[in-house]
Amino acid sequence: MDRRRFVELGLAAGASLAVPTGNAFAIEEKPKQHTLPPLPYPYDALEPYIDTKTMEIHHTKHHQAYVDGLNRAEAELAKARASGDYTTVEYWSKKAAFNGGGHFLHSMFWEIMAPPSKGGGGKIPPRLEAALNDSFGSVEAFRAHFSAAAAAVEGSGWALLHLRPSDGRLIILQAENQHKLSPWGVIPIMGIDVWEHAYYLKYQNRRMDYIKAWWNVVNWEKVEDNYLRQVGR
Ligand code: MN
Repeated sequence: MDRRRFVELGLAAGASLAVPTGNAFAIEEKPKQHTLPPLPYPYDALEPYIDTKTMEIHHTKHHQAYVDGLNRAEAELAKARASGDYTTVEYWSKKAAFNGGGHFLHSMFWEIMAPPSKGGGGKIPPRLEAALNDSFGSVEAFRAHFSAAAAAVEGSGWALLHLRPSDGRLIILQAENQHKLSPWGVIPIMGIDVWEHAYYLKYQNRRMDYIKAWWNVVNWEKVEDNYLRQVGR
């Protein structure tokens, strides 16, 4: 669609909605700004499994950088639309995918953890447990597969538990960086960050020790909530 046609459509849409904007010709984009969500617990809440300093840096520096990167990329893409100059569209599209993946996955990551005193590492609720049994044979098989997938991520990335709505199955896959190696059409409901920034201060190169410890802070209620939100309650 050329820009003139776009402007005409914009005006037509504005006119038909008859929204009193004060300026019938205002079709300027106002991209929504992404913001860093607060942690649902204090930085020291996941001790001794995940240390306070790691949580603080991870949230305030790393996650914040993905939020900023996503806002920047979307602003640059909006600029390209406004100017019609798309020479950097490949670069900013990649940045939007990387940082958008980072923002989404970290937002989920904080939520699917909880201190053991608040249920972290506790019992898996029945509907999620049934779904894990259906998809993996047993909870033990699921845990072994998920841990192995996390340990085997090449470089920086994630192990992810996805719901695949097309057949209702739960599947375990990896993500490299924040956004690669999972297919379209699946919905992550749980994930472990295995970038070194997630564990290096406490565990150095012992990624598997971090993974084993991490199971003690999984908020299964929230994972089930993510699942039921998709499949219905
Ligand atoms: Mn991270």
